[in-house]
Amino acid sequence: MITAENKKEYYRALIEKKAEYEGIFFVGVKTTGVFCRPTCPARKPKFENCEFFETAQQALLASFRPCKRCRPLSHPNHVSKLVQLLVKAIEQNPEKRWKNRDFQELSVDASTARRQFKKRFDMTFVEYARARRMGLAMKQIRAGEAVIDAQLSTGYESSSGFRDAFSRIMGAAPTKLGHSNILKASWLDTPLGPMIAIADEQALYLLEFVDRRGLEREVERLRQKIKSTIIPGHTQPISSIESELIQYFHGMLREFKTPLFFLGSPFQRHVWEELIKIPYGQTCSYLDLASAIGKPSAFRAVAQANGANQFAIIIPCHRVINTNGELGGYGGGLMRKKWLINHEKQGI
Ligand SMILES: [Zn+2]
Repeated sequence: MITAENKKEYYRALIEKKAEYEGIFFVGVKTTGVFCRPTCPARKPKFENCEFFETAQQALLASFRPCKRCRPLSHPNHVSKLVQLLVKAIEQNPEKRWKNRDFQELSVDASTARRQFKKRFDMTFVEYARARRMGLAMKQIRAGEAVIDAQLSTGYESSSGFRDAFSRIMGAAPTKLGHSNILKASWLDTPLGPMIAIADEQALYLLEFVDRRGLEREVERLRQKIKSTIIPGHTQPISSIESELIQYFHGMLREFKTPLFFLGSPFQRHVWEELIKIPYGQTCSYLDLASAIGKPSAFRAVAQANGANQFAIIIPCHRVINTNGELGGYGGGLMRKKWLINHEKQGI
């Protein structure tokens, strides 16, 4: 987590181009849309135009693109030709979803590419490509309604830039409003990293960390089931969850009241309803949960339903741990699960 103190320290390091901060932080520059390493030779931005990140992936998800001068995705000492080639290929077509045959076309061995990428950037090639792609969609969401209103008034058809970057992930834009359900998506900053909230005027449909693996599929599933289009914007349930999250992170809220729209099968819904009953600050095992819904032998299915939860934090799947006391898995990453469990324990 980056505190206000960290930001000041990082800004000083940025101005002084301190090499010892390499790998500690990256800086996104709001005015140019690029992100840099601390030692970038380019002219330094003003403090208020800086956004700091701990990983390159976070900077990409926040819709920044890598700076061409300091090349934050290259290791300062050495980057293999292969990795350079791949970074370049993504920048030429950042919206693409990579398949094995795309590697073949570049005459690259897919598994070597994956291994080298992971070693250099601590994220796999697929994670990198995904972060860059999601970042493009998130850019629209972060920009919010103002941008989109302008585009709506001129009609989607005429704003192809918007469609290209956004609609591949959030859905084909409606040719005429009113012919499709409209859901709105907002970007919410939290102490555990940015989240995306999707809602209509009545209920929340999704709350998830933007770097969660599988988010694109989740969004796709939502669009298909609701037969809806997602556009950037705010609705009452989004405002509600935004203020509830702030209270939650301050340890001042234990139960969420924002109305939710459950999208799962009857079995999944049953599991989620049971999950919500696990009290704040407590944990239980998958087995306990399976017993609670009267199907003690179905704990695998229960664990799956747990993973299909479309509301991070609100439906507290982070409170479910292994029978042996180990943390178990978490879609949003184990660091977050641990943090959430500790946070809630402190509040009791
Ligand atoms: Zn730079």
